[in-house]
Amino acid sequence: MSHKYIKKSLNLILVIALISVITMTTAPHSFAASFSDIDNHWAKSYIETVATYDAISGYPDGSFKPNSNITRIEFITIMVNSQGINVSSPVKGQYWGEPIIEAALNSGLILNNEYGNMSQSTFDKNISREEMASIVVNAYIKSGGVVDPLVLHRATTRLNDFDSVSPNYYEKVIASVAMDFITGYPEGTFAPKQNASRSEATVVSYRLLQKMGIINSKLPENIIISKDKLKQGDLLKITIHHVSDTSIISLVQDLYPDFKWDESKDFIQGYIPTNYNTSPGVYSLKFTNSETGRKSTKDIQIIPRDFRVQKLKVDSSIEASTKTEAANAEYRKYFNPSRDNSSPVKYYTEPFLIPVKGRLTTEFGESRTVNGAATSYRHSGLDIAAPRGTNVLATNRGKVNFSMPLILTGNSIVIDHGEGLFSVYFHLDKLSVKEGEIVERGQKIGEVGSTGFSTGPHLHFTMSYYKVSIEPGYFLYGESIHS
Ligand SMILES: [Zn+2]
Repeated sequence: MSHKYIKKSLNLILVIALISVITMTTAPHSFAASFSDIDNHWAKSYIETVATYDAISGYPDGSFKPNSNITRIEFITIMVNSQGINVSSPVKGQYWGEPIIEAALNSGLILNNEYGNMSQSTFDKNISREEMASIVVNAYIKSGGVVDPLVLHRATTRLNDFDSVSPNYYEKVIASVAMDFITGYPEGTFAPKQNASRSEATVVSYRLLQKMGIINSKLPENIIISKDKLKQGDLLKITIHHVSDTSIISLVQDLYPDFKWDESKDFIQGYIPTNYNTSPGVYSLKFTNSETGRKSTKDIQIIPRDFRVQKLKVDSSIEASTKTEAANAEYRKYFNPSRDNSSPVKYYTEPFLIPVKGRLTTEFGESRTVNGAATSYRHSGLDIAAPRGTNVLATNRGKVNFSMPLILTGNSIVIDHGEGLFSVYFHLDKLSVKEGEIVERGQKIGEVGSTGFSTGPHLHFTMSYYKVSIEPGYFLYGESIHS
C-alpha cells in the first residue's frame, strides 16, 4: 500500500522540500499537533494522533470543534486523506470539495448518486453514522482489508438497533461494528441516523489508519480532570485514559499527600479531596509518564468560601464532662478504622439523596468560639434538626462498614460507597442496619435521635473521601449548602 498525505500547510511543504530528507510517504511529522479547544476532551489523544498524520485538520483560528457535527464532505476528505489518494487542486471558481468527491468516487469510497444529486448542498449536509460506516468500510476494503465472515456474523447481535439501519447500508454498518471501526454507545445502540461528531469521525479515522498498519504506536495518555476550579470542600476526580498500569504515571501535587490511583481496563483514576483546611490558590498537578517521558501539567484553582462561625456559650463544667478521654479513646479505637478501606468498585450508580429532611443547624466547616475564645474545631458535616424517630435514609447504595453506639457520637453508622467515598451518620435514636450489610439508596438505616453528646434530636451527616471530610452539598445538590 502506498500512502501519500496531503499536506495542507504550505510552510510544512517548504520545510520538507528544504531539508529534502523526509519523503511525503513517511510516517508522522515529529511536532505535536494540537488545538485550542481539546484539552480535557475525551477524544484529545485521538485528535492529536490523527492530526499528526494529516488525515484531519482544525480551523484557521486554531480550534478543532470536537463536539460539532461533521459534514459529508469533511468526512470524505478525512477518508481520502487517510488513503493517501492524490487530489488535484480545485480550479478557480470550483467548489473546493469537487476534486475530493471525484477522488472518492474513483476509489469507490462512495457511489454515484449515493446521496441523491451530487451538488455542493448535498455534500455540505451533516453525515449520519450509517453513511460514515459505509465509507470507512469501503476505504478499508479498497486498501486491501478483509472482513472475516465469521466475525461479521457474530457482530449482527452486538447492538440492538440494527433493524433501523437503511437497507442499502445494513451490511456495511454490521461490518463497521465487526471491525470495531464504530463500537456503538454504552446503551447498546448504533444510532444509524444520528449525525456524527468531529470527535467520533476522528476515532473512526484513527482505527482505519491503525488497521491499515499506518499507526503502530500506542495512544498517548489523555488526562481528564473533573473541574479546574474547586471551592474548599469539593472533591476533584482525575481520570487518565489509554493507560492501564498505575506504575507508569507519577503525579506530583501539594494538595493531598495520600493520593493513590485505581486501575481499570483502559484507564486509571484517582481523587483529590479538599476541605476547610485547604488554602485557596492555584495548585499544579504535574504528571510524568515514565515510559515515554511525556510530562503534562494541569492547574487547579481552589476558591475560598465563607465558613460560618458559631458562638457557643458553654458552662465550663459541662464541657469538661462531655469531652472525656475515655470517649475519645473509644472513638479512635472503633470509629477511626471504619474508613481505612473502601471497595475499588463503586457500589452506586444513582445520584446522592439527603438522608433526612429538616432544618440545617450547622453547616459544613463551621468553626466555633467557646465563651469568646477561638477553637481549632471545624464541623465535619451537616447538622440537620428533625423530630426524634424520623427515618434516616442511606444517601446512596453502599456497604455498612460500621454500626454501633459510641459515647461521643451516639448510635453511629458508616457506609462505604466505593472508590474511597464514605457517608457517616451520628446521634441516631435507633440503628436499623448491621455491619457488612449492603444498603440500597433511600433505604431506612436508623431514626433521628439525640444519643451521644448532643443537645437535641438531629442527624449529624458527614461525607468523606477516606478520612477527609468534604462538603456533602456537592454530592446532594452540586453546590455547597447554607442555612
Ligand atoms: Zn454535627
